[in-house]
Amino acid sequence: MASVLTPDQQSELARQLRAILGSDAVVDKPDELLVYECDAYTLEKNPPNAVVLPRTTEQISQVVKLCAALNVPIIPRGAGTSLSGSLLAVTGGVVISLARMNRVLSVDVRNRRALVEAGCVNAWITNAVKSHGLYFAPDPSSQTACTIGGNVAMNSGGPHTLKYGVTTDHVLGFEIVLPDGEIVWLGTTPDGGEDVDGYDLRGAVIGCEGMFGVITRVLVRLIRAPQGYKTLLGIFENVDDASQTVSDIIAAGIVPCALEMMDQLITQAIEAAYKFGFPLDAGAVLIVELDGLAAGLERQAQRVIEICNQNKAREVRVAKSEQERADLWKCRKRAFGAIGRLSPNFLTQDGVVPRSKLPEIMRFIRATSKKYGLRIPNVFHAGDGNIHPLVLYDERYPEQVRKAVQAGNDILEKCIEMGGSVTGEHGIGVEKMDLMAKQFTKDDLEAMQMLRRVFDPDHRCNPHKMFPGSKRCSDFAPKKQAAA
Ligand SMILES: Cc1cc2nc3c(=O)[nH]c(=O)nc-3n(C[C@H](O)[C@H](O)[C@H](O)COP(=O)(O)OP(=O)(O)OC[C@H]3O[C@@H](n4cnc5c(N)ncnc54)[C@H](O)[C@@H]3O)c2cc1C
Repeated sequence: MASVLTPDQQSELARQLRAILGSDAVVDKPDELLVYECDAYTLEKNPPNAVVLPRTTEQISQVVKLCAALNVPIIPRGAGTSLSGSLLAVTGGVVISLARMNRVLSVDVRNRRALVEAGCVNAWITNAVKSHGLYFAPDPSSQTACTIGGNVAMNSGGPHTLKYGVTTDHVLGFEIVLPDGEIVWLGTTPDGGEDVDGYDLRGAVIGCEGMFGVITRVLVRLIRAPQGYKTLLGIFENVDDASQTVSDIIAAGIVPCALEMMDQLITQAIEAAYKFGFPLDAGAVLIVELDGLAAGLERQAQRVIEICNQNKAREVRVAKSEQERADLWKCRKRAFGAIGRLSPNFLTQDGVVPRSKLPEIMRFIRATSKKYGLRIPNVFHAGDGNIHPLVLYDERYPEQVRKAVQAGNDILEKCIEMGGSVTGEHGIGVEKMDLMAKQFTKDDLEAMQMLRRVFDPDHRCNPHKMFPGSKRCSDFAPKKQAAA
């Protein structure tokens, strides 16, 4: 284990944490800490020295002050679904879990706002307000597990980002415990006070990957549920035709609320797992969802069908009921879960290319798959040009692990070369630190570090992430004694 603490220091830390929180809110047994040794990026692992499960902002502030006094790293944690290792306790430290701060505190229907604790699961917000005809728009595919605090920290998106934007567009303000323990509110306050003068510090913190403090309560914007949906499934012989359809739909001035693509390999895995009725021999399928006033939807749907047909769609199906629509989305959102049918391990990549370059990047992914001899299914937010190649490997074979990492890097470097980016929504974490140097200049990176220092001058809040040259777990691991 890589740790900044000796065993004695660790016991003393746990004792003091228990004094603040009580025994049932502190985890420090080595076997229990293993649960927290990574997030959904499993290529690197290291357990923290302790995990705390506070119930109030004041408790978090006290824990943060203690850690500041002892110079121990702190790592905020939601549900641990990050796909980029943004939770890794690289040198140990104290994980501050928001799992027990998960309530919807109040709903203001008139002003379309809700105040929630940061550990509130994304989908619970919509569940709490849907009887008022409202919902919370950002819908990561992990939304039945991930928390609003994690969404804010990662500025998460989802299938409906194309029309409704990402988390920052739906968060009005939040409470945050800064790395010295001070509690501040940034942005619009729950009593409606508009904090819009001066710098947008709310905006600066959103997407900080847990490096600026611990978010404890969030004021979210709710939007009115549309009058109706039309959900179509286009079935294509190949990825090129489906990609061209994506560009043509947007060029026709139609903005679907979701435009998602799945290639043959992932469709086969999903079909085996969930039995929806996807054709197993289709090269790609496209989910196109339209929403808005019921009156115009039929006309738009007809236009989408025409565009699909112009691009040689084999068939276009329209969901006939709300149940059919829900089943289709269940398949899409559980796509990563179906990968277990194909491979024991997979590496989820998250690059972005201009939409018009989707056919080219998909060809590059196929060539990369051949080059490394690894299968790479794709399921992604095609409307945003946000690709998710899933590089399949078996961690029991070190050579496959090495190839999977290299294949992922090749694809992301290609995204940069094509004018895109190394992340659309999953963040940098430890996974893509080195690629940041390829995407940004030294001056850009220094400007980002300067902003970070404003919030966390001592680099104790979720350290060793995002910036190229940051240390890795192996740099801190005890060196093996040379044989005598
Ligand atoms: C199957 C699957 C599908 C996914 N689909 C999507 C998708 O469609 N779109 C998308 O954007 N992402 C997706 N993700 C990635 C992930 O779910 C998101 O990044 C999500 O926002 C993480 O939330 P979390 O609560 O799990 O945060 P965690 O994984 O616990 O933490 C993520 C980061 O946020 C920080 N953090 C967490 N809580 C707080 C807090 N209260 N205060 C400060 N910092 C905090 C952590 O320190 C860490 O850096 C998916 C992941 C999986 C496993």
